[in-house]
Amino acid sequence: MEIITAVRGFKDILPTETAKWQYIEKIAREVLANFGFREIRVPILEKTELFKRSIGESTDIVEKEMYTFLDRGDEYLTLRPEATASIVRAYLEHAMYAQDPVARLFTIGPMFRRERPQRGRYRQFHQINAELLGLTDPRADAEVILMLMQFLMRVEISDLHLMINSLGCIECRPAFRKALSDFLAGKEEHLCKDCQRRLSMNPLRVFDCKTISCIEVIDHAPQILHFLCPGCMDHFTRVKEALGIFAIAFEVNPKMVRGLDYYAKTTFEVVTEHLGAQNAVAGGGRYDGLVKDLGGPDIPGIGFAIGLERLISISPIMDERFLISPQLFIAALGDKAQKLAFSVCNRLRTTGIKTEMDYSGKSLKSQMKRADKLSARYALILGEREILENKAEFRDMQKGTQETIGLDDLENTITKIVKGS
Ligand code: AMP
Repeated sequence: MEIITAVRGFKDILPTETAKWQYIEKIAREVLANFGFREIRVPILEKTELFKRSIGESTDIVEKEMYTFLDRGDEYLTLRPEATASIVRAYLEHAMYAQDPVARLFTIGPMFRRERPQRGRYRQFHQINAELLGLTDPRADAEVILMLMQFLMRVEISDLHLMINSLGCIECRPAFRKALSDFLAGKEEHLCKDCQRRLSMNPLRVFDCKTISCIEVIDHAPQILHFLCPGCMDHFTRVKEALGIFAIAFEVNPKMVRGLDYYAKTTFEVVTEHLGAQNAVAGGGRYDGLVKDLGGPDIPGIGFAIGLERLISISPIMDERFLISPQLFIAALGDKAQKLAFSVCNRLRTTGIKTEMDYSGKSLKSQMKRADKLSARYALILGEREILENKAEFRDMQKGTQETIGLDDLENTITKIVKGS
């Protein structure tokens, strides 16, 4: 019978990889905690309307990438394609702003987008999301970017390249939109079908398009930075100044609009040449209108998402804790020895010693082969003869030395040696 495989674009993270995931997540939690961010866990399923209203109807995500279904003929639900909308929904639903409008929140978990799978692009992928709500100060933008860069450096990502831009606000965006629409008028035949359709809804989306002809057209388009109102211009200048204080290198990329409609003012993306075509490790920006658009008060926000698959694939970080081998392996021959081994093994585990044993009843030689295979640090050998003589052999697998120890007070003796090493 054929085996059933995982769904295309959905990937197993195997036991050989999870230790690295946990380690990197641990560093993320440390860095986030230093900046005052607290964890929030939101559902992976939300009402479709939430994403339509926040991410925007004309975006690639909402138009073609969401896993949406009609729940028992009742209500449209969607597997979350990103986390900001869910976090803002929770912030509103629990009226967190009533206690304190400033909230520093993060979440780590899977996102779902029905994109064409390729290296670095999956249909289920994981993100670390950080959201800072309630602050308009440009220092908040810089702080969030600093936190991101600090984390990426802690996990030893090299050749990082930070790009920033400003998308303006509801004051200045209409003029830019008009200029862009005027520029694109008459050039429709050079644009792909998607862009042609989106022109009237949101011409900014053409900047996102990967089609060569669209890229060529947009290359000469007007740039948002020339249209910023004094407020947005000042904000952008102060973000750049604040980044300068921390000596964070960046490049202003006026064509970077990001693929979600809710962004306003500062946007940013971190790319690295180690990733090939899917070169973005993280991206984010300010979303000052989103809380209001989702039915809440006029509260600003800024945040980012880091793609964990991409990050983990390029982080050279290695830690000996990734290799989880037993500290002790118990080889036991015969009923009596197996019984003793079973109880010692499980008691040592409860004292915090990683212990394994063999149930096979095969020869001691074959059990020791298994100890070797698992890279056990020590082995306790309980042979039939040893048990009769009330003793056991204790082997240091690393040094290749062996000593005889008594069975009385066995666990204490072992604990002392193992914990002392
Ligand atoms: P976005 O939410 O589109 O701003 O993406 C933020 C980050 O998530 C990107 O920089 C990527 O690292 C990661 N990401 C986005 N889409 C995918 C995907 N389909 N597969 C893997 N990682 C992704």
